[in-house]
Amino acid sequence: MDILSRKDQVDTKEDNKDVQLLKDKMWSRKIVGKIRIFDNRKVVEETDIIKRIKKNKIREKEIVQALQKKDGLAWEEDEVAYMEGRIYVPNNKDIKKEILKEHHDPADVRHPGQHRMKELIKRTYWWPGLKEDVKKYVQGCVKCQQNKVQHQKRAGELHPLEIPEGPW
Ligand SMILES: [Zn+2]
Repeated sequence: MDILSRKDQVDTKEDNKDVQLLKDKMWSRKIVGKIRIFDNRKVVEETDIIKRIKKNKIREKEIVQALQKKDGLAWEEDEVAYMEGRIYVPNNKDIKKEILKEHHDPADVRHPGQHRMKELIKRTYWWPGLKEDVKKYVQGCVKCQQNKVQHQKRAGELHPLEIPEGPW
């Protein structure tokens, strides 16, 4: 293989990455904007979360101030507040827990790590302290902690203590 064709391969890979990012962005806009027209399981559950968000009128200082600024980054629509295109989740433990669960426990989500889980949630939702809540959730997940211990055990087995050679 010569240098030119290798360069082509690299370029293609980069292009695909961009396309994937764009798709992710479009997907999040769709969910935020037209949530009710989707009727598969996941979105029905998300619609239920939206209903609960609407019922909850509690708003943290941070979002109230952002809404008052009127700089286009935060806005309110149909009783739901948005921060940079993401649904603002009010300070309600149950709603937050439901969203965290939905982005971690289901079989198709497969227990993502903190970073991945935060990215998944931020496609649709945002709240102050999201990062810390995700961290706590992953650290509190029994399945994830068990996996971690198993990985550490396996890593230990791969690097056994060297047995020193020598006469003594
Ligand atoms: Zn987990």
